[in-house]
Amino acid sequence: MIIVIKPQTPRAQIDEVIAEVQRLGYDPRPIFGTEQTVVAAIGDERTHHTLESLTALPQVEKVMRVQKRGKLVSRESHPENSVIDVDGLKIGGENFVIMAGPCSVESEEQLISTARAVKAAGATVLRGGAFKPRTSPYEFQGLGSEGLRLLSLAKKETGLKIVTEVLSERHVDEVCAHADILQIGARNAQNFQLIIECAKSGKPILLKRGLSERIDEWLLGGEYILAHGNNKVMFCERGIRTFETYTRNTLDLAAVAAIKMESHLPVIVDPSQGCGRADLVRAMCKGSVAMGADGLIIEVHPHPAEALSDGQQQIDFAGFETLVKNIQPFINAAGRTF
Ligand code: PEP
Ligand code: MN
Repeated sequence: MIIVIKPQTPRAQIDEVIAEVQRLGYDPRPIFGTEQTVVAAIGDERTHHTLESLTALPQVEKVMRVQKRGKLVSRESHPENSVIDVDGLKIGGENFVIMAGPCSVESEEQLISTARAVKAAGATVLRGGAFKPRTSPYEFQGLGSEGLRLLSLAKKETGLKIVTEVLSERHVDEVCAHADILQIGARNAQNFQLIIECAKSGKPILLKRGLSERIDEWLLGGEYILAHGNNKVMFCERGIRTFETYTRNTLDLAAVAAIKMESHLPVIVDPSQGCGRADLVRAMCKGSVAMGADGLIIEVHPHPAEALSDGQQQIDFAGFETLVKNIQPFINAAGRTF
């Protein structure tokens, strides 16, 4: 860390800072300028006491961090792209993956028909919420355990891998019995107790970005998972809250390129929650591929107009089939295999 001392600080007060840096376990290296002095504190910021509290001293102007806070997710600790093995399905590296399925699991007929349709079009992972985080308590909350049972049935029928949301620490074991990938939703993106419990299960995790979460915070959410011994993490960009209301959220495609630059972990884009409009999904998919995304998670429903949640952003079977055909040249151009 770098501690900047205020101009005209007497030597005795500078020495006080130096002594404090040493006391906190760092090696202080002062640089005396004509106007101002800075103290470089050598040591590992992630294992030592943070020096940010030194700003409480009246002679300290500011304290600047040098190291990144998230070491394990960063390319510094793992320069190559990580490939996540989901029970034989490889996500990341050269591979491009498409996950698709309804927003919510609604019935056997709805789920199985969707699973068959998305598989025929090229998806390898079936999505579907059994536990739904709804804004209003009067909206459909998901089928819960029955939804999980249907997801397992769909897996048995089609061989697709399953991704579904874990809403609560109480459900981790139950969801793990049915899911290949645990989805941590936007509303729980900083629910660290839930994140830790999911991490401990050892299952691959799709970590959505929080509604108002900064990229550095999102990376630290992933860091929690790796710090708890699970390195099977995929970041999922799903749009953030901005002043714009034309779209439900603002899909931040720059964040995809940024995470790919900062981290070795795969990035999946959810254009459905991302813009909340079925008519923009295809364009967002193309953009995602160009930004370096490793995959997509797309909401598909047999009859979007009848959906119990997120009807406005779901696409039908024919729309999904066309979408996959349309993005194939983009996937090829990006040098990815699908
Ligand atoms: C969803 O995938 O249906 C969902 C609720 O996602 P998010 O947590 O990103 O809103
Ligand atoms: Mn949804």
